Amino acid sequence: MAQLTREQQVVLRSTSMLKDLMEDEFVLFLQNAKVASFTAKQQIIQEGSTDTSLYFMLSGQVRVYRKDPQGQDIELAQLSKGDFFGELSLLDNLPRSASISATQNAELLFIDRDSFFAFSKTHPAMMTKILTDISLRFRSSNEVFYKNIIQKNKELEEAYRQLKTLDEQKSKFVALTSHEIKTPLTIMVGSLQLLTDGIFGPLDPKVKNTVEKSMSGGKRLNGIINRIIDVSMNNNVDAILKKEDVNVLHLVQEIQDDLALLLKKRTLHISTHVPADLELSADMNNVKQIILNLFLNAIRFTPDGGHIEIRATAPDPAHVQISINDDGIGIAKDKQKLIFSPFYKVASEDTHTSGDVEFGSGGIGLGLTIVKSAVELHKGTVAVESELNEGSVFTVTLPVT
Ligand code: ADP
Repeated sequence: MAQLTREQQVVLRSTSMLKDLMEDEFVLFLQNAKVASFTAKQQIIQEGSTDTSLYFMLSGQVRVYRKDPQGQDIELAQLSKGDFFGELSLLDNLPRSASISATQNAELLFIDRDSFFAFSKTHPAMMTKILTDISLRFRSSNEVFYKNIIQKNKELEEAYRQLKTLDEQKSKFVALTSHEIKTPLTIMVGSLQLLTDGIFGPLDPKVKNTVEKSMSGGKRLNGIINRIIDVSMNNNVDAILKKEDVNVLHLVQEIQDDLALLLKKRTLHISTHVPADLELSADMNNVKQIILNLFLNAIRFTPDGGHIEIRATAPDPAHVQISINDDGIGIAKDKQKLIFSPFYKVASEDTHTSGDVEFGSGGIGLGLTIVKSAVELHKGTVAVESELNEGSVFTVTLPVT
């Protein structure tokens, strides 16, 4: 039996649930209840626990809170004398849906589930009071969650806006600095070219060799910078696509002609299966970048004697599908998602050979990043299927218009 002071009895009698009880009923209720004291910060109920008592606050203050998916506490309510809590698990017999801890020293009266039900059988009006209260609390919790979601959305929007600005600044910075490097580099490579061409008289063979090496290093650096510019341009949301009619076969032949001299260094069996009338409306340079990068990768990652097949079809009237198939070294399953990330290469730098089309040679891990962003600019998709040591197929699907 709970022993209460006169003041505590007044508080208890003021709760909506108990205020209509007759004096003898109230005494009966107290006989089934107990009093407990909690000090500030002490936990009264732990979210997820199976305690099933109903609590009435006689004095002090408690806070009701629960964890959000990030593990942070969201406060649902502050309760003080005259309030009650714990009614939900009394009814559904499920683990506690929120935690409660004292924010000030608090005295509580509690009644366990079985005693409460035994008592409420003779006092059904108490159940109605509980249900009304639950409904009110749901409304106010919903309100809290709703406000929380709106606040989180605002924070996300702001974070997105800041990231977007940073990304745009980064792209501009990369494009600007790359161009700043390109200008003197072009002058240097041009001057070295004049030297090797003998414009200033014949060069000593040793000097000529050194100059040629510097020139090829300069050209390679120029290529790298061009690729970085391509990536930063493709990342630029304002990039404007110049749409025109693109004949896939002509484009593939143009790429093969561009690479013909370089490919003399390799013994690869290259076949092309592209219908002569396959066309799409797209940015020619973008589509060229896509096919060129995939073709170059197939060349680099297929040993001499291997096969490369370029195929293009129209799987349906609205799409063109271009696939580059090789029987080269292949890509392990766990690496296949990563290869589209900037600067990612499966093999480490020291296993790379130099050159543009040599087996095992490679760029700086931007080729597939360029392919992916160029494809996405056209609202297309790129997919890879590959088996280690058996080969790879990269398939690009682009809308016809
Ligand atoms: P890079 O410009 O250095 O070639 P990419 O972004 O084009 O970089 O490719 C990333 C990595 O994906 C390559 O370093 C290589 O390890 C792997 N890769 C790409 N294409 C192929 C392929 N056809 N066969 C095997 N590995 C490939």
